[in-house]
Amino acid sequence: MAEHPLGSAERPLRVAVIGSGPAGFYTCDDLLKKKDLNVQVDLFDRLPTPYGLVRFGVAPDHQKIKSVIKQFERTAGMHGFRFLGNVTMGRDLTHDELVAHYDQVAYCVGAETDRRLWVDGEDLDGSHPATTFVAWYNGHPEHRDLQFDLQTERAVVVGVGDVAMDVSRVLLRSREELGKTDIAGYALEQLKRSNVTEVVCLGRRGPAQAAFAQKELKDIAKLEEVDVIVDKAQVDEAMKTVDELEPMFKRKLEYLAKLAEEGPTGAPKRLRLEFLASPTEIIGNDGKVAAVKIERNALVEEGGRVRPKGTGDFTTLETRCIFRSVGYHGVPLEGVPFDKKGGVIPNVDGRVTDGSGGEVLKNVYAVGWIKRGPTGVIGTNKTDAVATVKQMLADIAGKSAANDQKKSAQAIDALLAERGVNVVTFEDWKKLDALELAAGEKLGKIRDKFTTVESMLEALGRKA
Ligand code: NAP
Repeated sequence: MAEHPLGSAERPLRVAVIGSGPAGFYTCDDLLKKKDLNVQVDLFDRLPTPYGLVRFGVAPDHQKIKSVIKQFERTAGMHGFRFLGNVTMGRDLTHDELVAHYDQVAYCVGAETDRRLWVDGEDLDGSHPATTFVAWYNGHPEHRDLQFDLQTERAVVVGVGDVAMDVSRVLLRSREELGKTDIAGYALEQLKRSNVTEVVCLGRRGPAQAAFAQKELKDIAKLEEVDVIVDKAQVDEAMKTVDELEPMFKRKLEYLAKLAEEGPTGAPKRLRLEFLASPTEIIGNDGKVAAVKIERNALVEEGGRVRPKGTGDFTTLETRCIFRSVGYHGVPLEGVPFDKKGGVIPNVDGRVTDGSGGEVLKNVYAVGWIKRGPTGVIGTNKTDAVATVKQMLADIAGKSAANDQKKSAQAIDALLAERGVNVVTFEDWKKLDALELAAGEKLGKIRDKFTTVESMLEALGRKA
């Protein structure tokens, strides 16, 4: 069979991108934008809906962040792009099949689960990973049936990153405001019945090391119904070294000092930021969370990093609801190497390796949180995707291939059809999108999401 250069009109490059969150879309975009490259990209997702964490991670009252979807829609309109939703890797297609049907496979599956705290009582009823609460209020079909006991006046959030801020804001913000967003209907109903008036966020290090972005805290501080309470003594102590801080942390600390100085306004709800505080045990009663035991920390410098060190001074805080917001963690995919400790697919600059420090696997790549760990904002994934695509293109430079029937859209479609997989295309998704927007309009919200795969397939006139 005649061979042609890979990526030419005679022999287009065929790429499978797994996961349709920002990392997946940016990877497709960079590939499809390359001049002189003839590429066919199939973007897979296990859900019928695209956009990953933009749909299920970004808070419903942060619609501006979701405007990145407009860019993704433009990518989806580019020649050579296909979306294959409702296809689960490992169940509907294996890694080996992907490698057989595509020239290159890029995993962009994000970090799906939470990091553990490793304290006693972590799994008591009422102790939740923040990641599942976020997925729940955003209408994720796999998390919609979770239950959260919000009949408590105080909720505790462990961690002071941006996710902790999102969770705190959603718990405290007025229901009227939340009701106008695309929050899942069932979540809004439960939040309407919530008794939570105080959220305590526990930061294991000091105010100078807080992980949240200043803007995220500001978004809470500006809510009329919420006071942000910061311990002035803790902030004053941290301010002694303010000039040694990087500009971003310096500005953040100065903002915390301003909040501490202003003090509470007497608003009906509050966010209390407690720094230098580590949970050491979640105390239960009848299998349910009743309180959290907290150890006061001091700061020590170790290996150039400021670390928390327990002082042996303990207190107890009563609560029935704890959200552990200490970061995300990747989950392994069948047949794909996985670094358990780091929660990532081992790789060198995006080229997947057979274990940490192992051999590079041919034609398999990683992008986004599953490549580098759960850090950075949505846009960080663009740079990350560009870096991996650079390796992908370097790997095909000068290579030719024949027009193998196996490596065709028809072959993958036939395989999925044979297995009875109900593939949802981008056009299908646009129908669901229009239905969600129309349903939202009737309710005075931005969007009313479908929250089960069955209801989505039914709306498309398909059998689940
Ligand atoms: P994160 O920024 O890494 O914050 C994790 C927090 O958990 C930190 O305060 C960390 O403290 C703490 N922590 C870690 N292990 C702990 C332990 N064993 N005990 C107590 N505390 C512990 O993670 P994230 O909040 O999940 O956010 C993930 C990424 O998504 C971040 O890059 C974030 O910026 C991004 N994000 C952005 C937005 C937005 O832009 N609006 C919204 C959500 C998420 P240490 O600092 O001491 O490690």
